[in-house]
Amino acid sequence: MRPFSYIRPTTTEEAVDAFARAETGACFIAGGTTLYDLMKLNIERPAHLIDVTAIEGLNTIDTSGDRLRFGALAPMSAVAADPVVAGDYPVLVEALSKAASQQLRNMATVGGNLLQRTRCMYFRNGADGVYPCNKREPGSGCAAIGGLDRGQAVLGVSASCNAVSPGDWPVALTAMDASVEIAGPAGQRRVPIAELYRLPGETPHLEFTLVPGELITAIEVPRSGTARASTYHKIRDRESYAFALASAAVALEMQGDYVTRARIALGGVATRPWRAAEAEAALTGQRLTPESAVEAGRAAFRTAQPGRHNGFKLELGARTIADALLIAAERSRS
Ligand code: SF4
Repeated sequence: MRPFSYIRPTTTEEAVDAFARAETGACFIAGGTTLYDLMKLNIERPAHLIDVTAIEGLNTIDTSGDRLRFGALAPMSAVAADPVVAGDYPVLVEALSKAASQQLRNMATVGGNLLQRTRCMYFRNGADGVYPCNKREPGSGCAAIGGLDRGQAVLGVSASCNAVSPGDWPVALTAMDASVEIAGPAGQRRVPIAELYRLPGETPHLEFTLVPGELITAIEVPRSGTARASTYHKIRDRESYAFALASAAVALEMQGDYVTRARIALGGVATRPWRAAEAEAALTGQRLTPESAVEAGRAAFRTAQPGRHNGFKLELGARTIADALLIAAERSRS
């Protein structure tokens, strides 16, 4: 057991100030569904916990404007149950509903979920020094490369790390061109969600572009009249409470059988939520058929770098995209 201090500020400003006043080792905490796990595994060792759950106004859900706006503290289950989201944005609902378990979705917040850390087993199970891990101990090496890598990434990998980005919700938000509102020591800023995540490169311990003391306060998704033609398709070893082996978030705009615009993002196969620009380009202007859908799916993996045991993800990922495209196209007709 490691001692830590605990405070519960009631405004964003107080929370940011508290982080700045802490000398080192401060962490924000909301639902706690990731951080407490990592503390028990001795991977996270905060000296100060700043509980942000008492901050007013950060748990609101507003679907009345030209953007859907989700306060960072809104529970995942509450966003999935919102009538507008549930009725018009299947890609968002499915990504939320296929994550974790109902109990965890009731606790976990939509802001905290964006910062979920990898499930790489060498990262999570090696804090006693059994396995080298550049993400946990920079410069120590990577046990996954050349090791048991069935679940590891094939896109965005580096010689230092091939850990999969584990989330579902960030993948759906990436396909929907969402943005994230951030408060911090330098004030407020907003970034496209794609810019929240770093590739591992030579510094896999740096996973996000947040600077110390910054706090996600809201997520915004542009409203879309065609969002019903969307889906989040998730393939996993068992049908519930499991992370994706491959997943695809797809939103389509169609004219008849032809694709005028495709938005595709991938999970379970890449080191960060992965926008599949090659697949989007392969489809745009094309007639969508089972064959062209698989061809577009394969385009997404042309630059893939599989390891020893995860080469199956290339074809699985391509077919996951293809199935998602056909589901979204069917919804565009209803
Ligand atoms: Fe660590 Fe990344 Fe290697 Fe996993 S893949 S052991 S997280 S460096």
